[in-house]
Amino acid sequence: TQSLTERDPELAGAIKDELGRQRDEIELIASENIVSAAVMEAQGSVLTNKYAEGYPGRRYYGGCQYVDVAENLAIDRAKQLFNCEFANVQPNSGSQANQGVFQALMQPGDTILGMNLASGGHLTHGAAPNQSGKWFNAVQYGVRKEDCLIDYDEVEALALEHNPKVIIAGGSAIPRQIDFARFREIADKVGAYLHVDMAHFAGLVAAGEHPSPFPHAHVATTTTHKTLRGPRGGMILTNDADIAKKVNSAIFPGIQGGPLMHVIAGKAAAFGEALRPEFKSYQKQVRANAVALSDELIKGGLDIVTGGTDTHVMLVDLRPKGVTGNIVDKALGRAHITTNKNGIPFDPEKPTVTSGIRLGTPAGTTRGFGEEEFREIARLIVEVVDGLAANGEDGNGAVEEAVRGKVADLCGRFPLYPNH
Ligand code: PLP
Repeated sequence: TQSLTERDPELAGAIKDELGRQRDEIELIASENIVSAAVMEAQGSVLTNKYAEGYPGRRYYGGCQYVDVAENLAIDRAKQLFNCEFANVQPNSGSQANQGVFQALMQPGDTILGMNLASGGHLTHGAAPNQSGKWFNAVQYGVRKEDCLIDYDEVEALALEHNPKVIIAGGSAIPRQIDFARFREIADKVGAYLHVDMAHFAGLVAAGEHPSPFPHAHVATTTTHKTLRGPRGGMILTNDADIAKKVNSAIFPGIQGGPLMHVIAGKAAAFGEALRPEFKSYQKQVRANAVALSDELIKGGLDIVTGGTDTHVMLVDLRPKGVTGNIVDKALGRAHITTNKNGIPFDPEKPTVTSGIRLGTPAGTTRGFGEEEFREIARLIVEVVDGLAANGEDGNGAVEEAVRGKVADLCGRFPLYPNH
């Protein structure tokens, strides 16, 4: 009955400090968001106690009648959100959702065609150090040098040459919409499955602010914690009954054991929120804010890869200011603006250095920031970058302190979790 603070002050302190950090910093990491108190309540519930191997109505354990209700709610809401016939809401993460698809559709040694990391793909799409790159024959496509957009002709040529079993579309740093119809045309030419990994933009799809992978994709995966604004986790969707069956067996007993029922309850809560009209206005604002942020950064003398964004995410090319991603990321951190360094296509710098940072608007938009606030944030970023450009790696302490003050001001006007 003791509270965490009484029982374990050291751990409680870390959690409290993290809440303080989230309250006091501007969160621009494109893959993060801020869940509702309801999602946290579901995730922090007694459902964490329950073993429920199997699927609703077909469990290997007794006492599953109530967790079945929760999982069925998550499944039904996911199907409604993405207008599809089947959802598996059990993957513990986006990576495991992708692993589940691979286990369902491929054998070790089969060929997979995915986007390379340097162009914005994800590790699980066939990168060398990842299981997807080690266990499969991974062939990778990229973007065109002239406009940094997906090179569909290259995708087609590689597909014809290598005959992949699965082609993956989607990634972690793709600021523009993807032509799913073209991908499907290419997949059909070589008899491949088209797997769309919409982890980043799933929330936009759910709100009608991005084209849906369906009907083009044979199967789609997503994380549930990015634009979708749910608990950390993954999900697999399809309209194909045969693939659905294989996916279910691949997740359990293929690669996972007991599902995280408390997280599945959190997914149900988040999907319920995403079905409400407010979620559509939220996603519209996410996009409008991204346009405002990128536009103001360009005005401040920075380059944006592809010249802007159609989504929630953008890649800032820092080279016009003569600085690199690693030092900008640190300097912005000192000013309480949280970002991540990110390679840009054809980056001349090492992955530990990079010429870019990746920025996204989902978390700030949840907090309540609008276009005006995002323009102000862009100007603050430019101030810090200019301070670095003038002073070298250690940055300009006075500038960073002044920006930190303005960040505190802005955050103070948009309180986070006021009842915690
Ligand atoms: N797929 C894409 C496109 C992603 O961006 C990510 C997350 O970064 C993942 C998969 C993996 O998700 P997770 O971190 O939950 O394993």
